[in-house]
Amino acid sequence: MCEVALEKQLTPLSLIPYPQAVERLSGFFIWKRSLKIFPGEFGNEVALFLAGLTVEIRASMVDSEALTQIKIKIDRELAQEAYQLRILCEEITIRAHNETGVFYALQTLRQLIMSGYQVGSTQIEIQAVNIMDAPRFAWRGFMLDEARHFQGMQTVKDLLDWMAYFKMNVFHWHLTEDQGWRIEIKQYPRLIEVGSSRPANQVSGFLGKQLNANPHSGFYTQAEIKEIVSYAAARQIQIVPEIEMPGHAQAALAAYPELGCTGGPYQVSPRWGIHSDIMCPGKANTTTFLQNVLTEVLDLFPGKFIHTGGDEAPKTRWKTCPDCQKLASESGIARINDLQTILTNHISQFLQANGRMLIGWNEMLAEGLDPKAVVQYWVGRKKKLLQHIRSGRKAILSNFAAYYLDHGYAHSPLDKVYQYEPVFEKLEPEYHHNILGIETPLWTEFVPNRARLDWQVFPRLLAVAETAWLDPRKKDLASFHQRLPAFLKQLDVKNVGYSKLMDSNPPFHKRIFGALTLLQAGKGERSATLCDSHSTPSQPDRWQPDQQ
Ligand SMILES: [Zn+2]
Repeated sequence: MCEVALEKQLTPLSLIPYPQAVERLSGFFIWKRSLKIFPGEFGNEVALFLAGLTVEIRASMVDSEALTQIKIKIDRELAQEAYQLRILCEEITIRAHNETGVFYALQTLRQLIMSGYQVGSTQIEIQAVNIMDAPRFAWRGFMLDEARHFQGMQTVKDLLDWMAYFKMNVFHWHLTEDQGWRIEIKQYPRLIEVGSSRPANQVSGFLGKQLNANPHSGFYTQAEIKEIVSYAAARQIQIVPEIEMPGHAQAALAAYPELGCTGGPYQVSPRWGIHSDIMCPGKANTTTFLQNVLTEVLDLFPGKFIHTGGDEAPKTRWKTCPDCQKLASESGIARINDLQTILTNHISQFLQANGRMLIGWNEMLAEGLDPKAVVQYWVGRKKKLLQHIRSGRKAILSNFAAYYLDHGYAHSPLDKVYQYEPVFEKLEPEYHHNILGIETPLWTEFVPNRARLDWQVFPRLLAVAETAWLDPRKKDLASFHQRLPAFLKQLDVKNVGYSKLMDSNPPFHKRIFGALTLLQAGKGERSATLCDSHSTPSQPDRWQPDQQ
């Protein structure tokens, strides 16, 4: 069985992200049904590994190490997320610092098994190999906007499964917006009663004025949120909830109009884009409301980070609001815009007092901003951002031109996403440690259903996952394309749609056209249907770009 197969050594292993170091050894390990695994203290990780082998050749757990060919060893010398996976002809050994590394080693092994499986086969040959692996970035994120279109628990769990499979570890959950409030807050029931439903949706693109007549609603109860948080934690994924303030808050204002400068009335907005009505920092009620909401949020999400938005907050109403003017003069600030910094700092201090850290979009960057507030970069102001990073501020990079998954493939082709280097060339290496990592967001104005979601996300998520994990000097587009088909087959088996490879790198003329029509991208909207919070989505149909 231990013959050397030179030819196979020329092909990369079917792994995404590719490991940092792969040393080929002679021969093959034979994976078969009679294999036994002794999980030791890693029962959860091994159970998920076995459940994730959606093939007929599953191993079984035993309670004695003597009976097993798969050994898991603790090695405290290894870094937190690092692992060694040594596959010999007779035995597989995993070494890791703790359960995180064990989980990732098992995902690597699972990918090797899944890609080696042929329907009907009774055993799988796995190339003997020694893998030493650890991530480039600690923050390997995906963001889902469920405020524009509610997707539901099953979709979230499926996405968490795929993230874990590709070793991504942060699920940023955008839960509040102008168009909907999606998280139950017991102290403020109207956030759900009023804020989780809108009467219609804007169609025909960001510049369109036309509305359809489809109401849209949905929300998560606190019990459902706890279930999802625990589902993610078992897969080594931290969930970062986003509660937007002071802008993108019209759903909250519709529920509690006293939080706005004018007192309303406000409507949960059927329109996309930027809204002038935002929260009023001059009213004492606003900070009390935010602290009370966040107190319930902190109880639901145990992770260190809480996202508070901070983007696209026009100060139009603040300029003519007596309460905002009063706060501005009492605070001695130069510009009314600086009230946002006062609010952000207040919330940042509140979160720190509760052992957490605030994250906000890069529009919040201003002189006087709490240095501990973490910035998520998406667009513009690169010079200012670099100054902040050099002075010690931590950053997460989500350049919209490369990483916004809501963009069509004409604007953000697969290969461009893969080849994009997220860390700014101008940032000196001594400040690179301030980059926590990268994140790829999916905004859902034009993603009304699962089929469209799958098409936007896959296969670009795999490209971002590899950038988040692998040393950039080892990334290789040709190798990525060699490895990708095995994973597309696995998406097929799970009935997950994706952009076909021939469509995911459109020719130049289509890319120009795509860039010009970016703001009009919204063709999928026409298939939007009423989605209620607890309905199970029907089996998704595959979405195609030419579907009108
Ligand atoms: Zn005001």
